[in-house]
Amino acid sequence: MSHPLLSVEDVSKSYDGFKAITNLTFYLNAGELRTVIGPNGAGKSTFFDLITGRAKPDCGKIEFGDTAASTQDLTSLNEFEINRLGIGRKFQTPSVYSDHTVWENLLLSLKGPRGVFASLFHRLTSTDHDRLHEILATVRLESKHDWKAGLLAHGEKQWLEIGMLLAQDPKVLLVDEPAAGMTDDETDRTGDLLLSLAGKHSLIVIEHDMAFVKQIARHGQVTVLHQGSVLCEGKFEEVQANPKVREVYLGRGKHGSR
Ligand code: ADP
Ligand code: MG
Repeated sequence: MSHPLLSVEDVSKSYDGFKAITNLTFYLNAGELRTVIGPNGAGKSTFFDLITGRAKPDCGKIEFGDTAASTQDLTSLNEFEINRLGIGRKFQTPSVYSDHTVWENLLLSLKGPRGVFASLFHRLTSTDHDRLHEILATVRLESKHDWKAGLLAHGEKQWLEIGMLLAQDPKVLLVDEPAAGMTDDETDRTGDLLLSLAGKHSLIVIEHDMAFVKQIARHGQVTVLHQGSVLCEGKFEEVQANPKVREVYLGRGKHGSR
């Protein structure tokens, strides 16, 4: 049996008595692209808060590591330490440095010297230089490398931020609703981008847009969260056909199509 890269076991989290996450169990294998769906308030973003150390679980285990021997207990680490282990998160709203160029934004995200001045004037190794160029190509912003990030379209900012995540070279990328506010064309390209990262990286993508979920979940598993727990897990078609899922989520129609 392969060792899961990330294990979340029987985790709960309450806020003022309100159970945001209840007995949640979830495993992610290396190289997987897992899609997490669920109605508003299902606990999806809180799930990311718990993995990244932004919030601490009331009980349960969260562990990360390629092998049993290298497995680390994430609940004992802070946000910075968890990020340094190789878990990167992209929040819903893009947070790029508007006054810096696309290239500088990527530079600033590289592991290495801290602080804006050190990052911008530190001599890049040719390996880092090549890697940033590869990332620019991956997120399709080569032609805009010298644009101020503030001038990019919404979708391009989101891609730049995914590029900034990649510059940190994380093992796991946590991406929260990347298609929110995007045009259909941008959404489609974002799906291709995320699919191209699977295998090399492990990803958990939270998403609402069902057309987008269908696109990115082609080969992977979908986890449905409801009231802080896993309602069901499986291939997109299985999940879509599950009567419980239809009742709490798809059946409402609101998020059923784009
Ligand atoms: P989703 O991302 O699935 O829409 P969230 O994880 O954001 O849902 O929220 C799940 C529930 O937990 C919501 O009812 C929300 O109000 C509550 N919650 C999340 N984070 C906090 C917090 N820091 N303080 C209080 N309540 C929170
Ligand atoms: Mg959310």
